[in-house]
Amino acid sequence: MNYFLAKNKDVKPCKGKLKGYTISVKDNICTKGLETTAGSQILKGYKPVFDATVIEKIKASGGDILAKANMDEFGFGSFNINTHKVPQNPLDKSRVTGGSSGGSAAAVKDLDNHISIAESTGGSIANPASFCGVVGYTPTYGLVSRYGLIDYANSLDKIGIVSRKVRECKMMMNIIQGQDFKDSTSIKHEEDYEKKSLEVKGMTLGVPKEYLEASKEVKEAFEKTISQLKSKGVKIKSVSLKKNANYSIPTYYLIAMSEASTNLAKYSGLRYGVEGNTNLKYNDYFKQVRTEYFGDEAKRRIVLGTYARMAGFREQYYDKALRVRTLLIDEYKEVFKEVDAIIHPTMPMVAPRFEEVKNLDPLAIYQMDLLTVGANLGGFPHISIPMKKEGLPAGIMITGNHLEDFKVLSIGEHIEN
Ligand code: GLN
Repeated sequence: MNYFLAKNKDVKPCKGKLKGYTISVKDNICTKGLETTAGSQILKGYKPVFDATVIEKIKASGGDILAKANMDEFGFGSFNINTHKVPQNPLDKSRVTGGSSGGSAAAVKDLDNHISIAESTGGSIANPASFCGVVGYTPTYGLVSRYGLIDYANSLDKIGIVSRKVRECKMMMNIIQGQDFKDSTSIKHEEDYEKKSLEVKGMTLGVPKEYLEASKEVKEAFEKTISQLKSKGVKIKSVSLKKNANYSIPTYYLIAMSEASTNLAKYSGLRYGVEGNTNLKYNDYFKQVRTEYFGDEAKRRIVLGTYARMAGFREQYYDKALRVRTLLIDEYKEVFKEVDAIIHPTMPMVAPRFEEVKNLDPLAIYQMDLLTVGANLGGFPHISIPMKKEGLPAGIMITGNHLEDFKVLSIGEHIEN
């Protein structure tokens, strides 16, 4: 099913708290001695000489890494089809896994007692979790160190967890959380996530009225979940995220591509990964390597991101997007004054077939991230929980205010049960 890329031949059985589990990690997180390519051919053969902080922490807790999980090249995508080895959805091999952390979600669905460390920039944990019927948790920006993560867009990237049960996210979060002097954006905040979940009775959950456009089956499952929550004493309130509904997609893609295009400048066949034709002169060498080994989506983002940052356009695009981002975060913050958390479907549909997405134009694909990018632009903690009992799975996404991760996990655990 192609959900793994490099596999660790010398993997040791996990001990301690992690005993009985196997662990995979998204291919954009550095693992010492184990090939790490961020799903890109340009990094073929790159074996980091160090472990990312999250990997160090897992190893210190008795864990070891079984394999690197497949992903869209550098995280660029929503279906994990932007890669040289496309993974299949374990529930139906004619369907996508979702992305970009498709390998993580597919592995967790397919393997018992498996936890995967994944990463989200604009929804890459929640989306594949929804399509594969597993739990995907993205912590508040900065709670988990990004040191050793191959950056997509630094102001958006967050390392998180994919598992079968919320309880396993809580356990893993206790292991990987914490401030790290090697990541200046990591924040000083630690908590015991494994304590008993909060009561949901009496909580108020907000449903954004703009976020309900979904397929019939997803809508029905969502409505059913809402009525179950109501019967448990949860108050449901209709709220509005109108600015996010209108502007989060262009804002996200401008910022993400701008940051991505600078991050990709270092891949030139000189320091990391592949080597090109060394008889060429510097500029030709650089061009040959980047032409041959970057995929189409990576090239598209380099061009668009570079354009948006260019002198003369920067103020019009990138700087403006940064200002709009603040307004979008404020809109969420206003809603959090009235509700404990926000809930809506994670993706507007169940996992599509490969043939359905093959010929979609890029803008149509970007548009499908509408429900996940807002929480990611704001760095808000969110979790996707399977909510559909029959047929193909679909997730419900719960988003909380900054640092209210425990509340988000608690609501998630309640819905799961
Ligand atoms: N689909 C989004 C994108 O292509 C999100 C990807 C991610 O979170 N890594 O940018």
